[in-house]
Amino acid sequence: MDADVAVVGGGQAGLAMAYCLRGTGLRVTVLEAADRLGAAWHRRWDSLRLFTPARYDGLPGLPFPGPAERHPGKDEVADYLAGYARRFDLPVRLGVRVERVAVSPTGVGFEIHTTQGPWRVGQVVCATGPFQQPLTPPFATGLATDVVQTHSHDYRNPGRLPADGVTAVVGAGNAGAQIAAELAAAGRRVVVSGRALPYAPQRLWGRDLFWWLHRLRLLHAPADSWRGRSLRRRGEPVIGTDLGRLARQGLLDRAPRAATAQGRRLVFDDGRQIEVSAVVWATGYRNAYPWLRLPALDGDGQPVHSRGVSSVPGLYFVGLPWQSQRASALLDGVGRDAARLAPAIVARARLVERADR
Ligand SMILES: Cc1cc2nc3c(=O)[nH]c(=O)nc-3n(C[C@H](O)[C@H](O)[C@H](O)COP(=O)(O)OP(=O)(O)OC[C@H]3O[C@@H](n4cnc5c(N)ncnc54)[C@H](O)[C@@H]3O)c2cc1C
Repeated sequence: MDADVAVVGGGQAGLAMAYCLRGTGLRVTVLEAADRLGAAWHRRWDSLRLFTPARYDGLPGLPFPGPAERHPGKDEVADYLAGYARRFDLPVRLGVRVERVAVSPTGVGFEIHTTQGPWRVGQVVCATGPFQQPLTPPFATGLATDVVQTHSHDYRNPGRLPADGVTAVVGAGNAGAQIAAELAAAGRRVVVSGRALPYAPQRLWGRDLFWWLHRLRLLHAPADSWRGRSLRRRGEPVIGTDLGRLARQGLLDRAPRAATAQGRRLVFDDGRQIEVSAVVWATGYRNAYPWLRLPALDGDGQPVHSRGVSSVPGLYFVGLPWQSQRASALLDGVGRDAARLAPAIVARARLVERADR
């Protein structure tokens, strides 16, 4: 075996997992496709600040630096992750993309094909993040070629979009709301399309929203508790950006869901049409594991798991939304899930070792 455990992905989930396996005696390797840590954060839009305050942005063993109430910028998070790996000397291999994971031909452990050659490992933890493939509605192809289109995944700042005409931001969740507000503040004519979601102010009664969520035991509400089920039913609110207020102030327009597109026109569910010069698709992501050649996914390609323990022995997931609790895919929650998985990984390592002799 080249390693006892391979962690695929070196974002916060992969690093937290490696941290929780320190001192267990297991040979762990984190395989990260990017050539620097924090890549997922670096590539997000320039003005992005966390909606979680620094108090809730630390991984196990290392609080996020600076005052607890401030909201760090995205590059600070990337730097924090790189510093975290250095501080605990985590075994990360950069520039190694995993292209295939399959059961080892020996029947014990897994065979991993990477851009840097094959590996044989005892167990695998998938930590490739919940936001992998940007989703754009199929009707986007109906837009004329001179309409500038970008997904929120690739959006950087207003300067990259045309100054004239209307920019439609399709998708009124957190990403869409923040981007629309930024474009409106830069003087663009903006229409935000999408179902109006509940709004949650960042501060309530002098405290950060996340302070209250923690206090009310909602931040870590277990997925299978009544609190967790009720939060999931309600869906994510839009935090800190009140689109309704911006519309009332005349800073942007609102429209229902976009239904189709023709030439330079976007057509909405209510039949309204507008001519646009640019569209920002803030229409979300999908998890995808094309490299996982194991019976661990359901018909939609999503992991079959119980709190991160997959249906394939020795294969785990970490960092999935609602993996075990509300904060599973957040900086503050991923460490708890990693800590929960570690004992199962250690226990199985003994079986794998015996079988491999
Ligand atoms: C716009 C936005 C704002 C957010 N704001 C907050 C916030 O304020 N607070 C908060 O707590 N959370 C926030 N999140 C949620 C969450 O913290 C982030 O999405 C975070 O990046 C998830 O970490 P991760 O490690 O699970 O995945 P990622 O950060 O996506 O890391 C996955 C890693 O896996 C690597 N990888 C992928 N495929 C392979 C492969 N085949 N082989 C090897 N490596 C691979 C990638 O290069 C990447 O480095 C936000 C998310 C988004 C999208």
